[in-house]
Amino acid sequence: MNETATQLTAPLRARAEIDLGALRANVRALRALAPGAAVMAVVKADAYGHGAVPCARAAVEGGATWLGTATPQEALDLRARAGLPDGVRIMCWLWTPGGPWREAIEADLDVSVSGMWALEEVTDAARAVGLPARVQLKADTGLGRSGCQPGDDWAELVGAALRAESDGLLRITGLWSHLACADEPGHPSIDAQLVLFREMVAYAEERGVRAEVRHIANSPATLTRSDAHFDLVRTGIAVYGISPSPEVGSSADFGLRPVMSLKASVALVKQVPGGHGVSYGHHYVTPGVTTLGLIPVGYADGIPRHASGTGPVLVGGKWRTVAGRVAMDQFVVDLGGDELEAGAEAILFGAGDHGEPTAEDWAQAAGTIAYEIVTRIGTRVPRVYVNEVVGEGGPGVGPGVVPEIIPGYEGDDVAQGSDVKRSGT
Ligand SMILES: *Cc1c(COP(=O)(O)O)cnc(C)c1O
Repeated sequence: MNETATQLTAPLRARAEIDLGALRANVRALRALAPGAAVMAVVKADAYGHGAVPCARAAVEGGATWLGTATPQEALDLRARAGLPDGVRIMCWLWTPGGPWREAIEADLDVSVSGMWALEEVTDAARAVGLPARVQLKADTGLGRSGCQPGDDWAELVGAALRAESDGLLRITGLWSHLACADEPGHPSIDAQLVLFREMVAYAEERGVRAEVRHIANSPATLTRSDAHFDLVRTGIAVYGISPSPEVGSSADFGLRPVMSLKASVALVKQVPGGHGVSYGHHYVTPGVTTLGLIPVGYADGIPRHASGTGPVLVGGKWRTVAGRVAMDQFVVDLGGDELEAGAEAILFGAGDHGEPTAEDWAQAAGTIAYEIVTRIGTRVPRVYVNEVVGEGGPGVGPGVVPEIIPGYEGDDVAQGSDVKRSGT
């Protein structure tokens, strides 16, 4: 049982600490923000790089009753490996011809259908298996990606799905859609998509569809548009404690706390003279006598090469900046003459309350979004789970127990605040 503690103290080149106490509290905060809706924790792409199985379990402990993935394989893996309590629904939406429809039906997954080819394949599979499929019909209300177009296409799909339902081949369990610009609050497309969604849902219901859930909200819409919550909110990035965009607000504004901290052990500290080129291409040259610190992670670990010369790292109590290029396995920071020991801790990003940068700071440094920063952290970086035990330091709940709604972060002890200075450029 001390595995986590051992991993935490073991000398590791690098590790991504995943605070499952924060994740549970984030889900509780989202439930409080969307009190009329169920919460689907989106755990696609290995839970945005945080680890699908532990995060799915923690999300359920926090009160999520649905889990969402992109691919059917991700959903089947969760069903097989996560040991989820009965009644937790799993939905997946990114299908290609050939399935695996049969496996999905047998695993009691909710499958998304955007068009006739998929409806035909899923009903064939249901006939072969002898069980009805749980099908959610997806409407394209304006994203222009997957989903069924409004008008004749929607009429054809809804009509065919209802016939298959009366033949006992499927249950239409959901009507759903996805927003294009929810991370830009006030964008006119949001209202337009909501109007069209209501129309497409109304059409289906007039024809006789009785879905369990209607849903359109991702994290930004969950945080900013209560009129988009319907029966279910599909939250991904907010579960991991990261704001969808600066325009939406900061994660702290919503009582969310970043779950992943990326740490590395400084591999070498050495003094060099002024005028010394640093890393491939010599894009950084030391301005005078200084000390350099070698950080043993690179783009193979998901550190964006676009953060060359800009990425922030907390080392020795100060913010340092990637000096020169990020290489495949390592990069260098200028320690400005500070004499640190090899093995000193470098925090690339974390929750921010110990003075360290956040994934959002890295997103800004690399010209991308924080989703990409956490999701791309590579498999060579071990995930170390902290606060795995439910109930530690807070009123947690066990699997299968319906949790009470506890708004905000009330979980495990966290050192708040820090007078660590952000310095170095
Ligand atoms: C990824 C995804 C989500 C979650 O989006 P967030 O912005 O991370 O909350 C919701 N729905 C669909 C269809 C998705 O692909």
